[in-house]
Amino acid sequence: MNNNVPEIGSPARTKAILNRYRLVAKKSLGQNFLSDLNILRNIVTAADVTADDNVIEIGPGIGALTEQLARKARKVVAFEIDANLLPVLDDTLMDYDNVKIINQDILKANLPEVIRDEFEPGHPVKLVANLPYYITTPILMGVLQSNVSFDQIVVMMQAEVADRLVAVPGTKAYGSLSLVMQYRAHVEVAFDVPRSAFIPQPNVDSAIIRLTPREPLPVMPYDDKALFGFVKGCFAHRRKSLWNNLQGIFGKQPEVRERIQTVLQRVDISQQLRPERLTLINFIELVNAFHDEGLM
Ligand code: SAM
Repeated sequence: MNNNVPEIGSPARTKAILNRYRLVAKKSLGQNFLSDLNILRNIVTAADVTADDNVIEIGPGIGALTEQLARKARKVVAFEIDANLLPVLDDTLMDYDNVKIINQDILKANLPEVIRDEFEPGHPVKLVANLPYYITTPILMGVLQSNVSFDQIVVMMQAEVADRLVAVPGTKAYGSLSLVMQYRAHVEVAFDVPRSAFIPQPNVDSAIIRLTPREPLPVMPYDDKALFGFVKGCFAHRRKSLWNNLQGIFGKQPEVRERIQTVLQRVDISQQLRPERLTLINFIELVNAFHDEGLM
């Protein structure tokens, strides 16, 4: 390794790489390169990456986070959609023999297969990434609904989306995204990242979110997908009452309205509440009760 060359994520090296390859960051692919070594190292620390860990990265860019991960991890497999970055990564990461770049859209990747083929079993598998912001939600939904159970997920996203992920009942940011994420994992903000840490600078600030496998819930829904669909339906008109939204889901016929009321009484939830007042457990109890009532 050439010790005179600064690390990839230093501002000087980032600029030098962009110049050398005449790279213009593609806005359409969410290319904002993190250029702050402290923050990059803190991301790796937040995921507690050790030499025992296998890591999946999404969007390595010019390799700044990949380098920090490769220094600590057993192996890093990174998905990059932009073929123009492949020769750059070949060059910037040439000193690391524990990195594999896959030129593929992460939304089309078969993660269980890649993990089986690329990683030796018996080691923790973590996901660590500075996500392309335009597809943060589909990536997280896809990952959490895949059959892969990551031991840890640490990802950067725009602060506003991070707020929605960790939001609690009764707040403006609380909604279906909070509930789906919190159903799947324990979600927390690890730390905030200012827009000035990127080249080029985005128009928004960012935050690092950490997802860890959650403790078992006291009740489980009869079906995960039914829960997610129901939650979405309940938030279709978030300023209206639960009663209004439930009629939107099930219909307004007198017989249906009566059955909705029966269910609400059974689970002891007021029909006047707004959906944002309900907890995850409330939603699970409701979906199970509507199922028992034959409405789902
Ligand atoms: N990891 C680098 C860093 O921290 O500086 C770059 C992060 S940049 C915010 C997002 C990266 O994701 C870009 O390299 C972009 O080309 C890549 N990307 C965008 N859409 C993608 C997709 N669908 N699948 C895989 N990579 C994608």
